[in-house]
Amino acid sequence: MVKIIKILLFEDNPGDAGLIEEMVNDSINYSYGLKITETMEEGINLLKNDSYDIILLDLGLPDSDGINTFLNVQKESSETPIIILTGLNDENIGINAVKKGAQDYLTKGMVDPDLLERSIKYSIERKKVQLELQKYRDNLEEQVEKRTIELDNANKRLKIEIEDHKKTEVTLEKYLTELKRSNKELQQFAYVASHDLQEPLRMVSSFTQLLAKKYKGQLDSDADEFIKYAVDGAQRMQMLINDLLAYSRVSSRVEEFQLVDLEKAFNESLQNLKVSIDDNDARITCDSLPTIVADQSQIIQLFQNLIGNAIKFRSNETPEIHIAVEEGEDEWIFRVIDNGIGIDSQHNERIFRVFQRLHERDSYPGTGIGLSICEKIVERHGGDIWVDSKLGNGSTFSFTISKYI
Ligand code: ADP
Repeated sequence: MVKIIKILLFEDNPGDAGLIEEMVNDSINYSYGLKITETMEEGINLLKNDSYDIILLDLGLPDSDGINTFLNVQKESSETPIIILTGLNDENIGINAVKKGAQDYLTKGMVDPDLLERSIKYSIERKKVQLELQKYRDNLEEQVEKRTIELDNANKRLKIEIEDHKKTEVTLEKYLTELKRSNKELQQFAYVASHDLQEPLRMVSSFTQLLAKKYKGQLDSDADEFIKYAVDGAQRMQMLINDLLAYSRVSSRVEEFQLVDLEKAFNESLQNLKVSIDDNDARITCDSLPTIVADQSQIIQLFQNLIGNAIKFRSNETPEIHIAVEEGEDEWIFRVIDNGIGIDSQHNERIFRVFQRLHERDSYPGTGIGLSICEKIVERHGGDIWVDSKLGNGSTFSFTISKYI
């Protein structure tokens, strides 16, 4: 179906209106529906009740004149394209109206059917594009406004977050200083306590031993037994205190970090474990070990504790222990792998705590401080320590040493 182009013509001169009517009726290209109004008032009413594809507007009407005619019509029907019809002498008014938003102007008496048709088509298209552009612009403005509000809000939130962050940082720093202070105090206390306890304990121990030696068999059997308990207890306490002292020395009595040849450190730790290695026929192998920056005596102690444990917690098989090394990007990764009794995985973390042991003293001697010392040493070297093991299936103790300490 051919679409009818609906025209509203404002024209009070019947001759001019007739001419236009003739032209549109004769058109072979389009179908037009033409409505003619002679006054502004009637035209406005028509626009209120119906919609048109184009308005042809003579500015000089009985009830309105000049550019005001255009402005009133445009106000009433802002989305309809308007072509101004001017007289021969008032082209300027036509140009002025185009500047104010009319789509085109035609000079009456010089209009022919082709020109009229072309102007109508052009005006309709132009208005359509203008409206789309306007819509796009409005939408864009709306988006920009929305985005600006969002950004504003995000900025405000960020400001609040930064302030909160700063406050938290200050509080954290306060806590950290406090923690460092209390840690230091605690270390000092552990050191002083274990150091100062040694002397009286040595007295208790040596005098109970003297008692045992001098009066053994002279008192009744209960007394012999009590003295034996006292001697045992004092000796055990001495061991605990010595180990506690060793633990507190990991941070209080430190050497400078220096280049340490780990092959040498490893051999020295084996030397210190010679008796236990020989007694157990332990076979100990290692990858080729690097030279790293570390505290030499602490590294020897670390190897010694881990290899010592691997021998102590042996199974019925001959102890076979291997030290493996792997180079990471920022750290060295070491593993001490044994074929011993293994550990139930539920104790994987507990065993690194001070005095935590999984066995009776009678089956495996020790105070439960060796792994805590290892953890402290590794932490001082910017690393971690952990165990992978299955009960009855050997253990692998892994630790890392940072390359940037
Ligand atoms: P200690 O050797 O004096 O008992 P540690 O701190 O060195 O103390 O070890 C804590 C506990 O972890 C040990 O009592 C033992 O139960 C367990 N453990 C440590 N090393 C091994 C190992 N290589 N194989 C099996 N169990 C181990």
